[in-house]
Amino acid sequence: MSPPETCASERRAQEVYEVYLAHIDGCAPCQAEEDCVEVARIRRDLRAARAAVRESPALRAARAEARK
Ligand SMILES: [Zn+2]
Repeated sequence: MSPPETCASERRAQEVYEVYLAHIDGCAPCQAEEDCVEVARIRRDLRAARAAVRESPALRAARAEARK
């Protein structure tokens, strides 16, 4: 069973991914594989959201401990 925090980050990652797909779908520059500032921002969000999913609360706690 995953902790609620992990479920929340998984939902967030899924939401960002849906935003990403919807953007590609409606964005001419992205469909032409041209530079798009908006998609760059969404990709950053997506990376951050996926990193949050991988980072379990236990790992985060261990990291916080290491920073002390
Ligand atoms: Zn775009």
